[in-house]
Amino acid sequence: MPEIVSNHIDTLMPPVLQRIQDQHTAIRILNNSIKNNRISHAYLFWGPDGVGKKFTAKAFAQSVLCQNTETKGCGVCSICSRIERDIHPDVMIIRPMGKTRLIGVDTIEDINKTAQYRPYESNRRFIIFEDAERIGIPAQNHFLKTLEEPVSETTFILLSSNPGLILPTIRSRCQPIRFQRLRLETVTKIINQIKEIPEETASLVAMLSQGQISKSIEILDSDKRTLIMELFKQLAQGRDPLLLTAEFDQFLTGIRKRIEKEVNKSENIDKKELTPAEQNAMQQLINAEIEAQVANEFESCLYLITCFLRDVLVYINTQNSDMLYFPEMISEFPSWNHLQAEAGLNFVEKVRSYLSRNISREKVVRDLFFALSPKI
Ligand SMILES: [Zn+2]
Repeated sequence: MPEIVSNHIDTLMPPVLQRIQDQHTAIRILNNSIKNNRISHAYLFWGPDGVGKKFTAKAFAQSVLCQNTETKGCGVCSICSRIERDIHPDVMIIRPMGKTRLIGVDTIEDINKTAQYRPYESNRRFIIFEDAERIGIPAQNHFLKTLEEPVSETTFILLSSNPGLILPTIRSRCQPIRFQRLRLETVTKIINQIKEIPEETASLVAMLSQGQISKSIEILDSDKRTLIMELFKQLAQGRDPLLLTAEFDQFLTGIRKRIEKEVNKSENIDKKELTPAEQNAMQQLINAEIEAQVANEFESCLYLITCFLRDVLVYINTQNSDMLYFPEMISEFPSWNHLQAEAGLNFVEKVRSYLSRNISREKVVRDLFFALSPKI
């Protein structure tokens, strides 16, 4: 029997929490903790990527910090709006940075120090970790000290799709809140709001992405999709993987330039007013931000390559094109058997682990293209 989900919305629930789709249990727990004024020192929001964990973490902070006396978490006041735009001083978002995409000891030490002080303008501070499993193990050990001696005004929210990689000693100090996959209708609706595409395409993409919004958007990203299609077309035609590697590098350089421009624009502070040490520190932050964004773009290219290889595998097994991410590419599928397709998929997984070990992206790409070249 299907689970009966009550459509009743608690009218006292903050509007920003009411907006969250399909996460009834998580929202109920968070709303109760606000109502009873029992906000934990640390939460672990866990579940698949792209289902609203970060969105919920920010909505939770809005619901607690909002100063609207009639409706907490109004979503429109200055506090709510600054949290929404990631510029509220008491709501910090920590992301993995640099080539290794790790949150390092230095960052954790800074956070430990920050947590000693009172919040700047509110009575509570939120520190949200995106991809908390990317806190390096030494950094996790440093973080543990702060979690063991909680400071009353700080709440940590760890977001993770892979909580098994977080030390048990850290996990056990966080209140776990589980996030579910979104329903198909929800993903279709959200994709439709973001991208103007036909209803059928939206629902197909929603189905393929298994209820993960961020993945759906990546599948639809036309630049990267065209690039990956072109790449496999040329590999299938027997083009030299070395030349393709050079083209791919050029594509990434273009992406990097665009990101550099955007990041420098958004960090538009008058550097003349800063001391040399501050300028230096700021430049390092900017560089780290750029590296993190380039790494994300590269990750999503890898994801699209995985989608293509999965297509090949599905098609070999079913001869049915209804369930493919790239149905327009059937004619370009390499004449692999399923073992070769699986080997290709495994290689992409291996490439991911190389990246976290700080092996150069160029080398990784070259090895990948050689491995995927159907001739070899
Ligand atoms: Zn508000």
